[in-house]
Amino acid sequence: MKKVALVTGSSRGIGAAIAAALSRAGYAVCINYIERADKAGELAEKLRSEGGEVITQQCDVADREAVWAMVRRIERELGPVKLLVNNAGIAKQQQFQDIEEETWQRLYAVNVGGCFHCSQAVLGPMLHEHAGCIVNISSIWGSHGASCEAAYSSTKHAIIGLTRSLSAELSLSGIRVNCVAPGVIDTDMVQVLGQETLEELAREIPLGRLGRPEEIAQMVLAVAENPYITGQVITVDGGFLV
Ligand code: NDP
Repeated sequence: MKKVALVTGSSRGIGAAIAAALSRAGYAVCINYIERADKAGELAEKLRSEGGEVITQQCDVADREAVWAMVRRIERELGPVKLLVNNAGIAKQQQFQDIEEETWQRLYAVNVGGCFHCSQAVLGPMLHEHAGCIVNISSIWGSHGASCEAAYSSTKHAIIGLTRSLSAELSLSGIRVNCVAPGVIDTDMVQVLGQETLEELAREIPLGRLGRPEEIAQMVLAVAENPYITGQVITVDGGFLV
């Protein structure tokens, strides 16, 4: 049966590496983005030149109607989604007392709401086929507290709770739900920390460096392809939190 994957937030960073790994593993892939049509287009072109079947779709995962429209388009053009990777996410570092209501709501709408909308939108055909796989991207800050990242960290904790609950609910329907929790990965998201802090962080990581997006993609593919893993949170962090 044709393997179709939706990777949210896959124009750049970890999502782009996941989309590439899946395409190279034979999945037809939808690259989703919110703003960077240029980046999504470049990646799609590259993967098509390698023989991949790829479409791109702008969609804010916080927008329920837009998510449903995206998933219906994927079904029409590629086929029903067999693998959903809920990767789209945003972060903001600030002290707890300074977090604005709007920032708090937006982080929840994208990071948690996005998982909710996308998972519901792909579920119908998965339930019908009695097969499917959802991989949620949380973070090491989804199981540990992060100073000055209370909003982000709490959304990532929620994603782990959602993963475990959905796994418990959907296993009997043949659908697996897992979570990959990256450590500090070298993408645009962490550049706000500044070079000095990133170098300090690299020194604190037992393996001595930040992670690469491809190393997260490798784990997502492994989880997607292993039929006996569900309900798990798999950390890929160079030994940062042990
Ligand atoms: P980047 O900021 O580098 O990329 C974010 C991606 O998400 C982009 O493709 C962006 O699209 C897309 N995106 C952002 N908001 C939305 C939205 N509302 N709807 C759809 N797409 C959206 O992030 P990373 O690659 O670093 O992070 C990816 C995931 O991994 C996130 O969930 C993050 O929390 C998690 N993570 C990252 C870590 C890290 O150290 N980098 C560590 C732990 C977890 P566009 O290009 O159009 O802006």
